[in-house]
Amino acid sequence: MDETTRKAMKLLLDLKSLAFATVAGKEPDVRIINAMLVEEDGVYFTTARGKPFYEQLRQLPEIAICGVTDDSVSVRLLGHVKQCSGRKMMEKILEHNPGLVQLYPGEKSDILEAFHLYRAKGEIFDLSGERPIRDRFAFGGDTVNPPGYRITSKCTACGACSGCCPVEVIQEGEPYRIDGRSCLECGRCVEICPEDAIEPGPGL
Ligand code: SF4
Repeated sequence: MDETTRKAMKLLLDLKSLAFATVAGKEPDVRIINAMLVEEDGVYFTTARGKPFYEQLRQLPEIAICGVTDDSVSVRLLGHVKQCSGRKMMEKILEHNPGLVQLYPGEKSDILEAFHLYRAKGEIFDLSGERPIRDRFAFGGDTVNPPGYRITSKCTACGACSGCCPVEVIQEGEPYRIDGRSCLECGRCVEICPEDAIEPGPGL
């Protein structure tokens, strides 16, 4: 794991309660779930076999997770999950999460199943300072998305986009250049550019 991924993992653990979104048939679904354990190979969480969440994960083992701190640092990721085989990981999760043991004491925890988020890509978006800072990460073999918008060689350096950016992250040049790390990815420059020179990247 690189430094940004480690920071994201720490945020997930510190926040603990996170929005976990799945697809239910053709509908979106979301609920608050705790990140129970973070290890070198990803994030572990649990749910009960009777819950729709469990069935949705089995039908489409992909997930979107997000959370935000009190001072507006958010973490968001999209990834792939698999159910852990056996009870070993579930026992480890119970060992590290006394609140879960209170909720499902003794043998009643046998209804719980552990899941492993083993591959994902995402971003930390920090709105706590003067400028937004966006740091992207990936683990488990996924690739880091590049910044959201880029200015292509069609740019004629007219300067229209620079003045329209809410956070002033478009720099002069031939072509002009977007500082992707601080870009809000609002798309205002795309609408204003007379040359159609600004393109969305694969992360959008
Ligand atoms: Fe280049 Fe378009 Fe920006 Fe003008 S508005 S500087 S053509 S990217």
